[in-house]
Amino acid sequence: MNVAVSSTRTPPDPAEDLAQTLRQIYDLDLTTTSGGNLSVLDDDGVIWITPAGIDKGELRADQVARVEDLDSDTENQNTPPPSSELPFHRAIYAARSDLRAVIHAHPVSLVAFSIAQTVPDTRVSAQSYARCGTVGFAPYALPASEDLGAEIAQTFAKGFDCVVLENHGVVVGGTTLRQAFERLEALDLCARTVLRARTLGTERALPWDDLELALSIVRKPKSQPRECALITDQERAIRQSLCKIARRAYRKGLMTSAQGALSARLPENTFLLTPTSIPLDRLEPSDLLRVGLQRSGLHEHDSREALHAALYRTHPDVSAVAHGYGANASGFSAAGIPLPSKTIPESYILIREPVSVSFRTTVLDPDGVAAVLCPDNPVALVHNDGVLTVGASVLDTFDRLEVLEATAAAVIASHPLGELTAMNDEQLAELRTTFFPTGGFRGAPHGGS
Ligand SMILES: [Zn+2]
Repeated sequence: MNVAVSSTRTPPDPAEDLAQTLRQIYDLDLTTTSGGNLSVLDDDGVIWITPAGIDKGELRADQVARVEDLDSDTENQNTPPPSSELPFHRAIYAARSDLRAVIHAHPVSLVAFSIAQTVPDTRVSAQSYARCGTVGFAPYALPASEDLGAEIAQTFAKGFDCVVLENHGVVVGGTTLRQAFERLEALDLCARTVLRARTLGTERALPWDDLELALSIVRKPKSQPRECALITDQERAIRQSLCKIARRAYRKGLMTSAQGALSARLPENTFLLTPTSIPLDRLEPSDLLRVGLQRSGLHEHDSREALHAALYRTHPDVSAVAHGYGANASGFSAAGIPLPSKTIPESYILIREPVSVSFRTTVLDPDGVAAVLCPDNPVALVHNDGVLTVGASVLDTFDRLEVLEATAAAVIASHPLGELTAMNDEQLAELRTTFFPTGGFRGAPHGGS
């Protein structure tokens, strides 16, 4: 049966949006039950803020506090008491008229930087630099005090959108709550990536030209779901599968809500791709973009479309492509160190011998990526922009992404134990003969190895 699909969404209520976002922050382990607070400033000058002393994992919209006047202590008596950190939220809004949302949290990765008296270098990742800019550092002051508010607001007034608080945590701002949340996710991923890269050696910053390129991409209009006529049963099944796996990649920490792309080949020279305007954790089958494989100006507004199209055009056996951002594999790409894949049979069979490509190549030379990323070498580390995998199906491509991250995590975890031992040539030859004797994807097991 052929049907048309369209995607419509209504803007969220501020209290519901705050409650949902705080639960999400808690579920991602970016804050504890007692720490963290977030607020939104609405068009009427009202601050909506998470309440004091309520379980962060279970917050409901009717528990969100409403503070009527930005400049006074007037609180709405009909709502719960606001967070004790209201003074710094208020001070940030007073210092930065462009900001309409503020998030404060205690992610482990950023507390590590906080207590080491430093900030993560966002230039290790095109996405983190483009989303967060450079990071400010605010001196210590007593929690809930006006002094803390003044220190944080002064740092925001210098133009920083993300500020690490000395011996405390982090505060990020945004023009919307969604933007602030995406900054928190990107900064936490950046911090975890830097910590992994330091374990391996040291992180390398993107060249200046590439930072400009990263900014130009993030500033482009986000790709919106498009009305699609005539969806076949086959396409509907692929849409559901792609959506389910994209949400799983988010849950497993292989992509963030805003960083990551997943696509799947369709018949007749088209493919489906996740849009940039919808958070991956909220993706619905009708949101997916249907894109043509042809080389044309149609792709110019979205470099991801051109990259995925080049991979499908060049390699008929590629049925799905993923761009992921697991912190451990990203640590290797940020450090510029090859990722050892000859560790256990599963790793060697699924990820083979990863190739390297630059962030610039993925944006400006998609055919150059397709020349090295192929069924025989189905994994690429992108300096400094995560990893790419290709596969014979959506599940095969996701499996490869997951095994890649697990392999990177195991290698990093083995560091305190000394030199790792790779499988020897004889063992590797035996694996090749058994699992992929003719090369390509064929023989890749899903039943365990
Ligand atoms: Zn705090």
